[in-house]
Amino acid sequence: MERCLFCGEMRGDPLSFHNLFSPDYAPGFCLSCREQLIPIDARHCCCLCGRDLSRLNRDRVVENRCSDCVKWARSGRNGLYVSNRAIYHYNPFLKEMINQFKFRGDVRLADGFAVELKRAYRHCEREQSGIFKRKPSFLLVPVPLSSERLLERGFNQADVLARQIGAPIVQALVRVRDEAKQSKKSRAERMRLRATPFRLNEKAAVRLSGHKILLIDDIYTTGATMRLASEALATARPHSIRSLTLIHG
Ligand SMILES: [Zn+2]
Ligand SMILES: [Zn+2]
Repeated sequence: MERCLFCGEMRGDPLSFHNLFSPDYAPGFCLSCREQLIPIDARHCCCLCGRDLSRLNRDRVVENRCSDCVKWARSGRNGLYVSNRAIYHYNPFLKEMINQFKFRGDVRLADGFAVELKRAYRHCEREQSGIFKRKPSFLLVPVPLSSERLLERGFNQADVLARQIGAPIVQALVRVRDEAKQSKKSRAERMRLRATPFRLNEKAAVRLSGHKILLIDDIYTTGATMRLASEALATARPHSIRSLTLIHG
């Protein structure tokens, strides 16, 4: 029996005929860890950023959208950017998991999210074409780290998550500088769009023309990163840009 990728306890999954003989019995989390990962119910989420509307004050909900997304639409800064889909709510448990993944370099944790990432990807496919096609509809663009941050961390978490999905990945963006710590800024400051820290990796970006892009990142917070990344991608003339994140924070 496999151990949980996060807490190291035995997984204790019921031994079924399938997982006994499956050579690729997927690595994953134990039941107690899985119970602390709270999925966002797609039926009750903001149709634009994927956050759970039932957890917001009513004055921050406009029909099936949240007030942040209404503000983004009014700002005229969405450009080719359409929407985000997020898998889990941010909570203290997931915060600890992400710390272990990103800051303590436990890359294997991404394997535990593979099934849900693939499921969310299929949802994005259906959302934009109504059916699931055999050939992936999207080119995945992981949100990059700066080269300094990449050197320090050794891997880009967005890239590691994107690789779980199994659709083609294009490293179309380069991050030219890091932002000051988001947590030190007010929400209004974080929603304001600065000059983009991204630029196009021209060589890779020629592949984007006319394609549907799915930006991949670990977390969607205010949506500013996605707009800034989309702005940089727009010059490569993609058809449209959506995003998929593990968490809505
Ligand atoms: Zn566990
Ligand atoms: Zn929203």
